[in-house]
Amino acid sequence: MAETIFARMLRGEIPTRFLHEDEHCVAFADIAPQAPFHVLVVPRRPLTNIGAAETADGALLGHLQLVAAVLAKAAGYADFRIVTNSGAGAGQSVMHLHLHVLAGRTLRWPPG
Ligand code: AMP
Repeated sequence: MAETIFARMLRGEIPTRFLHEDEHCVAFADIAPQAPFHVLVVPRRPLTNIGAAETADGALLGHLQLVAAVLAKAAGYADFRIVTNSGAGAGQSVMHLHLHVLAGRTLRWPPG
């Protein structure tokens, strides 16, 4: 897997304020927020995207979603969206799996 900016953030090479960190993942604010609350949940393990995940990654994927939900609720948002882009054609620009957690405004569907 090619080096990404998220890998550098995880290694501490780019100073980043983590809103959450545990042995499996970190979370930090998106640099270009698309909603009043826009946090990224990023696994420490460099999986390219959910399309590259395997059965053995199930627990990690579940953990990332639970962390995302806890962070949104802890910030006071009962309603929120968790989304992950898998592949450039789906809008993925950083090739290290991450969940977007969005809240704080009305979120329309489909997202476009
Ligand atoms: P995606 O397009 O789904 O791959 O999402 C990548 C996200 O990473 C985008 O929403 C970017 O704004 C965000 N991003 C890129 N670089 C940084 C950074 N240095 N710190 C925080 N967020 C970033």
